Amino acid sequence: MKNYSNKYVICKSCVMDSSDSKIQFDENGNCDYCQNFKKKIKKNFENFNVKNQKIFRIATEIKKQSKTKYDCLIGLSGGVDSSYLAYFIKRELKLNPLVIHVDTGWNSVESSGNIEKIVDGLDLVLETVVIPWREMRDLQLSFFKAQHPNLDIPQDHAIFATLYNYAIKNNIKYILTGGNFSTECIREPLEWAYHASDVRHIKDIHKKFGESELKKFPLCDIFTYKIYYRFFKGLKVIQPLNYIKFNKEESMEFLKNQFGWIKYEHKHYESRFTKFYEGYWLLKKFGYDKRKAHFSSLILTGQMKREEALIKLSKSPFDQQEIENEFNFVCKKLDISEDELKNIMAKRNKSFKDYNSRYHIIQFFVKLLRFLGIEHRLIR
Ligand SMILES: [Zn+2]
Repeated sequence: MKNYSNKYVICKSCVMDSSDSKIQFDENGNCDYCQNFKKKIKKNFENFNVKNQKIFRIATEIKKQSKTKYDCLIGLSGGVDSSYLAYFIKRELKLNPLVIHVDTGWNSVESSGNIEKIVDGLDLVLETVVIPWREMRDLQLSFFKAQHPNLDIPQDHAIFATLYNYAIKNNIKYILTGGNFSTECIREPLEWAYHASDVRHIKDIHKKFGESELKKFPLCDIFTYKIYYRFFKGLKVIQPLNYIKFNKEESMEFLKNQFGWIKYEHKHYESRFTKFYEGYWLLKKFGYDKRKAHFSSLILTGQMKREEALIKLSKSPFDQQEIENEFNFVCKKLDISEDELKNIMAKRNKSFKDYNSRYHIIQFFVKLLRFLGIEHRLIR
């Protein structure tokens, strides 16, 4: 395997390329994500009959252990993964989940509509947790000012920390998530998307660039939920979509027909901030295109042709008019002038390595978990 640090190289099988500075290629031009997929992930797409039975057994166990009104907790963003998960566990597994929607202030019209359709259509109980906007804004602006590539850390952290903390507080022992290999088998490199679960990192950036205190913003460190919540509080996290043949396009079609669910142009675009950040900011300022990881996951799992991905990648996610509209919207929402945001954009890019973090210890555990066969994805 070789890394070509001084020229542009794209993988022959997927669409990951040298915008991941650590990517390596074999003599046939295939990248290490592809190699890792063959070695460690592909086997997860076999024996679905056995797996199907297993998830039903797990569901029986969840019901048996349930001590509260609800069997489990699920998060609902309105995106395809969480929407399909809600359908699957309610209708197929016959579980009674409490649905939490974390409102970070950036819901798109489609996502709010989708949440309503899924909740009503499945007769679910929804609790919406609203993140205090002043704190959300302050933390998001801190990441902008830090010139950090991963501007979505504040939203991502708020969402899962709310879920984990809620489960512990209300004595719910199971969280079921829409996480899956089928659409996420290639994890974006850390230089594009550093862990959202590293509280030391968040606090350091907020200390340096924040303007007001974080009082109610939900925080939950990676070690708190992976170790303390899991081993001392008995919280279990399960990804049911990994036990079934989960196909993105088919699931979207199904949700559309069953519930009138509306499709987004791209993964994670249910948040208007994420759409702006991934579709414009990250690409233009840093040259990182997250669609490459998303499409590569779909290519490797047989859900997209490489040619189709290349055509899509050759086009910008936004046209010029849309960019102007979204830029204007984001400035208004964050209550800053367009000039201020343009100034931030023009300044020098930084990396997560410029700030305090638990990077080394997290990477140690990632390697350990990969060695033990618990973590399959390449995380670097
Ligand atoms: Zn590849």
